[in-house]
Amino acid sequence: MSKGVIQANYVWLNGKLVEWENAKVHVLAQGIHYGIGVFEGIRGYYDNDCIKIFRLEDHMKRFLKSAKIIHLEIPYTLDALINAVIEVVKANNFKTDIYIRPVAFRGPGSIGVRAKNPVEVAVIAFEFGKYLKPTGVKCKISSWRKPPADSLPVYAKIAAMYLLYHLAAVEANNCGFDEAILLDSEGYVAEGSGENIFIVKDGVLITPPTYGAILEGITRDTIMKIATEILGMKVVERRIKREELYTADEAFFTGTAAEITPIVEVDNRIIGDGQIGKVTSQLMELYQKIVRGKIEKYGRWITEVK
Ligand code: PMP
Repeated sequence: MSKGVIQANYVWLNGKLVEWENAKVHVLAQGIHYGIGVFEGIRGYYDNDCIKIFRLEDHMKRFLKSAKIIHLEIPYTLDALINAVIEVVKANNFKTDIYIRPVAFRGPGSIGVRAKNPVEVAVIAFEFGKYLKPTGVKCKISSWRKPPADSLPVYAKIAAMYLLYHLAAVEANNCGFDEAILLDSEGYVAEGSGENIFIVKDGVLITPPTYGAILEGITRDTIMKIATEILGMKVVERRIKREELYTADEAFFTGTAAEITPIVEVDNRIIGDGQIGKVTSQLMELYQKIVRGKIEKYGRWITEVK
């Protein structure tokens, strides 16, 4: 998302479709000043002449939960939000894979952190390719840490939290790495700047627990399910030490944008043999089939838009 100018024909804004150029926000919006907002990131895959949206309902449920946590009253039901996504995807008549960005934030009105200005809601959809290198990324442990659970609500996908990820990602890039890995406040591995993290050790899949300082990723959940249900692997949720990451057999990120991205190096230590690992490549292949609706068992996760 960092490169290139994004554009499409229509945006869904506060209940109706508007032309891209007219999807505007006032500069007094509280969301801009204080980061009071929530958002989602969803992918749609172009396949068989339609867009297949992956786990739409789960994403919109998380959107509403994030909003509730930060007192943001979204004036739409879950069904209305799902329909808004479908409407904007249809209107744009995409013929490629896409990314969908629902966002809600406090608009203009009063000033100050106490004010509860009216909430604005938008759904933006646009053509989208790969986010991180699918051939594998080199990572840096960030000097920026995830805050403890009593500092910012780590469970919620809130706009304000993404300043931290911006700092971490820019720091990593400035040092010549592809992506950052953030530790939690106690020094255990938490997640990437927009991804959850997994390691493979002696055939077991290990990922930080949901009670840790991570976003409960929908891709994380997908991978945990397919690793146990299809590959018959043992999946363990527990804290991961930085040293375990350096010495893992395999490591990879999961995320809607990142999909499954192999991690081939961390802090100049090569992971495994520096190539995409066996389990990682199996999961990458299965994931691409599932998101395009090629595995019937997981068909419930797909919303087709024609
Ligand atoms: N962690 C962070 C910080 C993220 O921004 C994301 C992307 N939403 C994820 C993890 C992965 O979540 P998901 O698989 O639901 O996209």
